[in-house]
Amino acid sequence: MFEFTVETIAGATGASVVAGDPARICRGCFIDSRLVERDGLFVAFSGERVDGNDFAPQAVSAGAAAVVLTRTPEDTLLEQAEAAGCAVLVADDAQEFLLRLAHVYRSELACTVVGVTGSIGKTTTKDFLAALLGARFRVWATKGNYNNLIGLPLSILSAPRDTQVLVLEMGMNARGEIERLAACAEPSLAVITKVGTSHIGMLGSRENIARAKAEIVSGMRPVPSGSEAGVPGTAPVLVLSGEDDFTPFIRDEFALPAAVEVVLAGTGADDEVRASNIELDVEGHPSFDLLLASGESARITLAVTGAQSVSNAVLAAALAERLGIDAATMEAAFKRLAITGRRQELRRAACGARVIDDTYNASPESTAAALDLLEMLPVSGRRIAVLGEIGELGEEGPRLHALVGSYAAAKKPDLLVCVGTACAEEMAAAARLMGMPARSVAIAGDTARATELVRQSLRPDDTLLVKGSRFLGLDRLVEEVC
Ligand code: ATP
Ligand code: MG
Repeated sequence: MFEFTVETIAGATGASVVAGDPARICRGCFIDSRLVERDGLFVAFSGERVDGNDFAPQAVSAGAAAVVLTRTPEDTLLEQAEAAGCAVLVADDAQEFLLRLAHVYRSELACTVVGVTGSIGKTTTKDFLAALLGARFRVWATKGNYNNLIGLPLSILSAPRDTQVLVLEMGMNARGEIERLAACAEPSLAVITKVGTSHIGMLGSRENIARAKAEIVSGMRPVPSGSEAGVPGTAPVLVLSGEDDFTPFIRDEFALPAAVEVVLAGTGADDEVRASNIELDVEGHPSFDLLLASGESARITLAVTGAQSVSNAVLAAALAERLGIDAATMEAAFKRLAITGRRQELRRAACGARVIDDTYNASPESTAAALDLLEMLPVSGRRIAVLGEIGELGEEGPRLHALVGSYAAAKKPDLLVCVGTACAEEMAAAARLMGMPARSVAIAGDTARATELVRQSLRPDDTLLVKGSRFLGLDRLVEEVC
């Protein structure tokens, strides 16, 4: 984790020191006053409901070395800080403060940075990369889903000084955000997992989503050979999915700089790194033949479920190969890997039914992938799909929910429960239109109602898929039945 004096922090960020000792050393950055540790740096963010500035006194009491406010500090705070030996800084903008500080720390780290963006599969690919690269290097990766303009700088600032490879997830809601994240992180290698429809409500079209993801290139820097601790030097490398219909757009029309080398990874014959002979075992774990660009190959088995994981695995493999990881090492690392939870996690209900817990979040594409898994798992009893509404689709919402409904119907589940109040109707109507009997399609206004429906009908030999956007809290349904 970083260790900077108050003076260095002020110099790096443009914040002004209004009280305290400029030589005081700060270790670790916190935005929640309840989590502040001794000698930490507390940065006050003001959200819609709470203003972090109000919590600066708690941070001082917890032993912070410095607090950063975005408003003029009250005299009482200044007195408290002086008594505690805590410095007080004032910044114009907390987000910009964090990005600048993280950028300075990133520049001091002698490490190679890998950026992972895309509409879907970022966390999964990031976890794969951490496992593959971790087999040879000291890797620090984004924890959980800390991928936005606050999470990314915090991820950088928490990296140990001896990190060799830093793997960072980069998410966005709007144009320009990935550019800011990439400018802060300066990755040398990057992956764009997939250009889907997540956040289409904010960006208007898939072209715009593709452009927004491709912004990552603007921040890319080469790694001069021999300059980083034990990691091979490399020109900027961008790994793109051979399966994504927007890959040609990013590669050709979007005009990437010539200095960026593109590697295609997927399942197509033209892909430089590819997966073939994909099979799922009875628990839904895929295995496949992995062919690397070097010509090396290995039979890989993933410890996670769903054929869509293969797309992410092959992207991670293509990138890891660039940093010198061989096929045999990858095979072992993939086997050991654990993935951030609630993404197609197989569980057991109290009654014995099998549950696919995919309640972490949802997009149209990941809902389709979850339905694929439900269809492919060998089952003896019925298949039940509980599909929650997908947020942030804007005007495209009704159309995309209807698409998901018809996709679900094509998988012929025995029961489909559509959850929500905005577009659940569209989803259910499309499923009926595509031939599902009306009695097999239910609508539940919220998670509580869906839980009741599932409780009434779940049998020991059923397989239940639960999938939906975060805001619905369908994980509560899973906890109720498991
Ligand atoms: P977020 O924007 O929430 O950070 P993310 O891009 O990090 O999402 P993951 O968390 O890796 O994505 O995966 C989200 C969901 O999408 C999971 O349900 C996962 O199973 C599914 N998924 C992952 N990769 C793919 C893919 N290539 N195709 C379809 N579904 C996928
Ligand atoms: Mg994520």
